[in-house]
Amino acid sequence: MAHVNMYKSLLSPFDGGPSITSEPIKILIGKTEEVTYAPKQLLESSSDFFKKALQEEWLEGSEHIVKLPTSNLESFGIYVKWLYTGKCSAVFFFFLSETAEGRAPVWTRLGKCYAMGDFLQDFDFKDAVVDAFAAGILDTVACPLRLSNFIYPYSRKDSNHRIFARDLIVHVFIRKVMRFDFIQNLDTPREYRQDILQALVPLVDNRISKISVATFLARNSPCHFHDHGDAKPCYRKRFNP
Ligand SMILES: [Zn+2]
Repeated sequence: MAHVNMYKSLLSPFDGGPSITSEPIKILIGKTEEVTYAPKQLLESSSDFFKKALQEEWLEGSEHIVKLPTSNLESFGIYVKWLYTGKCSAVFFFFLSETAEGRAPVWTRLGKCYAMGDFLQDFDFKDAVVDAFAAGILDTVACPLRLSNFIYPYSRKDSNHRIFARDLIVHVFIRKVMRFDFIQNLDTPREYRQDILQALVPLVDNRISKISVATFLARNSPCHFHDHGDAKPCYRKRFNP
């Protein structure tokens, strides 16, 4: 009988969801300025960058054209779909990731989404990308070797996303941490290596036990690794009120 609850989860209020009736904004992506469009109110609904850029007194706002020279079409497409649905359309990539190059390109694609979320100052989207990383790690039972390289350059020092990258390694992929040469050779951010060492200090006197990815994620509340804080509702609630 539990499956009947699914029907309720498929509904949202009549006036729920983002506005899709406002005028379209032309977005020029990357150095080659590939063209895509998205409704103005949708873009302003979550991104501080778009909120500022699309003010009428700004050139971008009056011309309805915004250039994103450092972004790419795929990341921006994932972002706009997320604005509509609250879902990161990247997790399915993990099932398609058994290519000759391995999974690295998949993680890199998600890393580009995270960097773009930072540029767009959409902190909810960054939380969502961290959730997508978690879903992928849970699915593959593997951690992207360069997870810290994706997160550290685009997050604050006190970001919970950094804690996610650090604790995942310390508690789940501990064997890799114990090989310090492994971490050093990955050319990971210096702050990340320092954070790992600091996290290991209180564990030295105890036997360090390795836990599974599923246990690691289950031990913490869903918002433990998010950056929205107590004052702002989680993006998940926004999409599933
Ligand atoms: Zn949250």
